[in-house]
Amino acid sequence: MTRPAIARIALNRPLRRLFDYRIPDNMELVPGQRVTVPFGRQILTGLVVETGVTPPQGISLKAVLETPEPWPALPENTFQLLAWASDYYQHPLGECLFTALPPALRKGRPATEKENEYWDRTTDEAALPATAHRQRALFNTIKDSPGISTSALVHRGFSRAQIRALEQKELIRQVTAIAEPKDPAAYSPAPELSPAQQAAAAGFPDCTDGFSATLLYGITGSGKTELYLHYLKTRLQERDQALVLVPEINLTPQTLARFRRYFGDRIVVWHSALSDGERLSTWLKIRTGEPVILIGTRSAVLLPFIGLRTIIVDEEHDSSYKQGDGFRYSGRDVAVYRAHLNQCPVILGSATPSLESWHNAQQGKYRLIRLEERAGNARPPALELLDIRSRPLEAGLSRPALTAIKETLERGEQALVFVNRRGFAPVMMCFDCGHLEECPRCDTRLTYHRRDRAMRCHHCDFQKAASQTCPKCQSENFKPVGQGTERTEDILAGQFPDTPIVRVDRDSTQRKGSIQAILKKVNSGEPCLLVGTQMLAKGHDFPRVTLVVVVNADGGLFSVDFRAPEQMIQTLMQVSGRAGRGDKPGKVLIQTCHSDHPLLLSLREGNYPRIADQLLSERQSGQLPPYRPMALLRAEADTMQASLQLLDAIKPMLQGSGIEVWGPLPAVIARKADRHRAQLVLVSDSRGQLNRRLSHVCQHLDQTRLPASTRWVVDVDPQETG
Ligand code: ADP
Ligand code: ZN
Ligand code: ZN
Repeated sequence: MTRPAIARIALNRPLRRLFDYRIPDNMELVPGQRVTVPFGRQILTGLVVETGVTPPQGISLKAVLETPEPWPALPENTFQLLAWASDYYQHPLGECLFTALPPALRKGRPATEKENEYWDRTTDEAALPATAHRQRALFNTIKDSPGISTSALVHRGFSRAQIRALEQKELIRQVTAIAEPKDPAAYSPAPELSPAQQAAAAGFPDCTDGFSATLLYGITGSGKTELYLHYLKTRLQERDQALVLVPEINLTPQTLARFRRYFGDRIVVWHSALSDGERLSTWLKIRTGEPVILIGTRSAVLLPFIGLRTIIVDEEHDSSYKQGDGFRYSGRDVAVYRAHLNQCPVILGSATPSLESWHNAQQGKYRLIRLEERAGNARPPALELLDIRSRPLEAGLSRPALTAIKETLERGEQALVFVNRRGFAPVMMCFDCGHLEECPRCDTRLTYHRRDRAMRCHHCDFQKAASQTCPKCQSENFKPVGQGTERTEDILAGQFPDTPIVRVDRDSTQRKGSIQAILKKVNSGEPCLLVGTQMLAKGHDFPRVTLVVVVNADGGLFSVDFRAPEQMIQTLMQVSGRAGRGDKPGKVLIQTCHSDHPLLLSLREGNYPRIADQLLSERQSGQLPPYRPMALLRAEADTMQASLQLLDAIKPMLQGSGIEVWGPLPAVIARKADRHRAQLVLVSDSRGQLNRRLSHVCQHLDQTRLPASTRWVVDVDPQETG
């Protein structure tokens, strides 16, 4: 047998090419395996793409140095998935493959866990000097919870050195793991499914039926999460793996708790806030085929599962499934392809399905399960449009809205006020000279944040101290205009001084654990007022909220982005869906200047399928996605002229063969962080044609010498087209 002499290696670099290395005589390599290779003066971790490549004549290649482990970090099926995604999204293979590795393995660390250690005391009383407070506290902690692990102790603020010190004094010793005592409430039986839920459950596929895609359209509060639990409980075999994708794990700790309650330790999580050690540990469980149920964000779909038998994508419409930079994949769409590769079912669930999925269901490509009743005693909320054109407003809130809030609080219930911008006010304006404070680096205005007296750009990291007077004419008539969460919080605090107000936006939830604390407070059930942004629309179950007020619904009605109306309606329906989830009926007040707009009228009916059909017929007449695939080619440079020139030069290479190219046009925010941005929009009759043309152009651009500061990217199936 002649040995393959050469391996083709992918590196974690934004390069559309692979690198050949010689395989030393005593080394065996398989595709997907990690290797270390010399690269210039560095030693890098690489992944084997293929072996047995014919060696080129007369070139002496450097040899592979080592194989950190004898097995492929990426098994064949995962490798295939990533290779497909690399081609589909036009992103370099190396970077795609490396997204499936935990950070520790990307950095070349060994694929083994530092075994956790567990501790117990050796004596009842520790003879420690009176000054050794921390060691005594550590001893007492171990005494109180025998079998506690090193990581749990570190979590409580003890250091490894302190643990070692006690061990050396023989006051504590290592023990084999003692399983943590299970909460008696754990594994509580699921509630009995309602007849509507039972009918829906009957439509779910079996995990052994092969590939199918199912869209679960279930209105907010209809018990979709309960159905997922039931489905996994009844259809997933004990030896198999399952994946549950969620948009943002930290926003919905309740969902995680519900899964843990039914499945205990079988639940593992994957998201970016985990430590490198936690990620490696979870990754190894997945890769070694432990029968886990993984709850994770977007990138979880790329992990090397062994024995994955079903995928659930919760809130499948959520735009955070699409990565916004680098490898711009859609976690939802990759999930569908993955199910196809694994020959297993995928369930997409939402109260406001994406138009893509709704279209697929109507075309019969996905099966559709409808769940149009709320679970338990809850009823859908009553929606009312409040025309604010000629009403006096107090910081954006109309009299009827304030009265409704007052009545809700008086009944001992909770109200939620939705504002679509964080900060105090979207702009500061001079009422004498008309000056507006703009970001010096972007074509946007600065948002006023009064809590820390700052003006901030929400598009770059620029910020400056807020001034009291107009920077242009020094007038004191320099005032905030419009509504942000901080301002609404202030006005409500003035109106309802005895009610606790909880603000939920990116600013108030930055610290780790703060969202958990907020949710705990809300769910304690005391009357309170919630004020917040989109974050409040995401999957929360607030049983005590009976009133939702939308301060202004008009944002997405007249946007240039063709997805804006869909996203606006989804957000409004989701936030409305927070009302009346418990036993008491809910009410939603939507303030608008366009109460006769057809979309808002349909929204009031609460009939999402009708809205989806309406929006789809608009997409069809414009021949926009999902009727034709779309991609963007974006360029950014030091000047707008440079960006436009690059795109102008490329345009002819893309046109023709059923591909329409629009532009180049400056992006809506043409200058962001001092970079000038423009784009070409491509739509095509054929996905294949579009893919081939884009590949061709990417290769061409890779080989073209561009000015150092010019960048370009391709975005396939873009979520934001502005
Ligand atoms: P969704 O995910 O569709 O928003 P959830 O699964 O969160 O809905 O259910 C909404 C509420 O109804 C939750 O508080 C849940 O515990 C409750 N619920 C769901 N199914 C049932 C049921 N069959 N019986 C009683 N309560 C239920
Ligand atoms: Zn002025
Ligand atoms: Zn800026």
